[in-house]
Amino acid sequence: MSTSSKRQTVLTQIADAEKAAGRPLGATTLVAVSKLQAWADIAPVWEAGQRIYGENRVQEAMTRWSDRRDEIELRLIGPLQSNKAKEAVAFFDVIETLDREKLIGALAEEIQKQGKAPRLYVQVNTGEEPQKAGVFPGAADAFIALARRSFEIEGLMCIPPADEPPGPHFALLAKIAARNGLDRLSMGMSGDFETAVRFGATSVRVGSALFGARS
Ligand SMILES: *Cc1c(COP(=O)(O)O)cnc(C)c1O
Repeated sequence: MSTSSKRQTVLTQIADAEKAAGRPLGATTLVAVSKLQAWADIAPVWEAGQRIYGENRVQEAMTRWSDRRDEIELRLIGPLQSNKAKEAVAFFDVIETLDREKLIGALAEEIQKQGKAPRLYVQVNTGEEPQKAGVFPGAADAFIALARRSFEIEGLMCIPPADEPPGPHFALLAKIAARNGLDRLSMGMSGDFETAVRFGATSVRVGSALFGARS
């Protein structure tokens, strides 16, 4: 299958899942995760009209997207070091991985300095995995409240444990969002985005299903 028809397949799967869940068509945004992909693999997706991309690393994103930066919406979906807050605020439209008090401070300072603010998501470590970023579910309400003293929060993001059914994790993220008055949920990747749509994802982050395996 060509890469551009892979995009059409993913969009159709998203639409079918929206329909099955009784959600409005188009309620879910496709974020194409371009990390570690060669431009030859990205080009067909670009030409098919995809203009929202996700990247894990600030420096890699700048290298890949500087020439086309004004034409796309760019989302940071990988962990952010507070010493990279300056570049991240300057380069990204959305930062999805806010998860530490120190990072709240660093981002608030840069937003103030630069006079521009990315849209921000709090990452929740729904599986409480020690190696994974994100605030634990039990600490999420307090962390969201703390972050809101500095800026608006748009939604929540999670990456369920690889070895567990994702549904309960998506449900937990939706529940935390609802009780905090948040209606945007970034959840679902190549292996589970249809499940995520059924649980209310408003954006899915899809890499390998669009571009093939990463190099
Ligand atoms: C790499 C990555 C993705 C995309 O993963 P695929 O399985 O290739 O779709 C999504 N979200 C995050 C946070 C990632 O790091």
